[in-house]
Amino acid sequence: MSEPFATGRCLCGAVTFSIRGQPIGTGQCHCKDCQRASGTGHMSLAFFKREDVEIKGDTRGFAVAADSGNINTRHFCPTCGGRIYGENSARPGFVGISAGAVDDNAWFKPQRVVYLKSKPAWDVTATDIPNFAKMPPPPK
Ligand SMILES: [Zn+2]
Ligand SMILES: [Zn+2]
Repeated sequence: MSEPFATGRCLCGAVTFSIRGQPIGTGQCHCKDCQRASGTGHMSLAFFKREDVEIKGDTRGFAVAADSGNINTRHFCPTCGGRIYGENSARPGFVGISAGAVDDNAWFKPQRVVYLKSKPAWDVTATDIPNFAKMPPPPK
């Protein structure tokens, strides 16, 4: 078996994951839902094919309709609350892994910033990458 691209876990370790493929994209989201879910100014997400990610342990999901009307389901560990991944009904077959849950996430670099309009003044964001006021059309 080849080495996984990355591994990770929740805070308590009841949920672990292993990723085989390379990320197909990365981003930083400042939407109010991500602020409420994370408890801070943004979520940092790396997107992978669902089939490339193996998750062990039970997660709970919480689904919300984004302002696009798409359903965004955020999955977390029911014991410690650590965020693991999210899925969006607009992009079936892909998951957004929470960058902070990845053991060695030095490779992570956001490629774009979304929902800049909701960014709190106290949060920092990269200005040398594309910034979008809301959610741009999904990458092809
Ligand atoms: Zn946990
Ligand atoms: Zn968001």
